[in-house]
Amino acid sequence: MKLLEERIRRDGVVAPGNVLKVGSFLNHQMDVELYDLMGEEFYRLFKDSGVTKILTIEASGIGIACAAARYFKCPVLCAKKTESLNLPEDVYTSKVTSFTKRKTYTVTVAKDYLPSTDKVLIIDDFLALGNALFGLMDIVKQAGAETVGIGIAVEKAFQEGGDRIRATGIHLESLARVQSMSVENGVEFAED
Ligand code: 5GP
Repeated sequence: MKLLEERIRRDGVVAPGNVLKVGSFLNHQMDVELYDLMGEEFYRLFKDSGVTKILTIEASGIGIACAAARYFKCPVLCAKKTESLNLPEDVYTSKVTSFTKRKTYTVTVAKDYLPSTDKVLIIDDFLALGNALFGLMDIVKQAGAETVGIGIAVEKAFQEGGDRIRATGIHLESLARVQSMSVENGVEFAED
């Protein structure tokens, strides 16, 4: 998606440790018009997949997932990373190691909100090593539901997550694929 690539080139900041900072428009301050266009693009890419639910993970996937859900006209289910007294007792859980925080946490989804009949589109902001997505796919599998696709805003294609996910055969679409990035030379995108 050219618009997202241009925005990353203009406003993204490459930080040490293979981290791309997009806090000015994507996951701290949020450009809602851009979100809406990303949601529309995800709809174009997955409209024939029979999506009944969008699953994301808190926090930075939520806004993008909600923008997409307006087009799919389906609910967004947000996997929780933090323990909360508000959560019901009957839950699916999976362990995920965070790329940016370098620690392992448990993601949780209430069983009631993920029936086996759901056809799930997973949406997240970044794909790095793929751990967050494998955790979410594991939860969908536990529920007996089906992951029909994965939509990512920014895939860092030089890291292994994309290959790991594509090897499962799941339909993965990334709106921007970063081929390489460095503090000195900025960001280069993969050709389609
Ligand atoms: P993975 O599980 O694929 O290794 O990492 C995905 C998660 O880590 C995403 O949900 C995202 O929040 C975070 N993440 C990974 N790489 C980056 C990055 O370069 N920049 C930002 N802002 N977040 C990242």
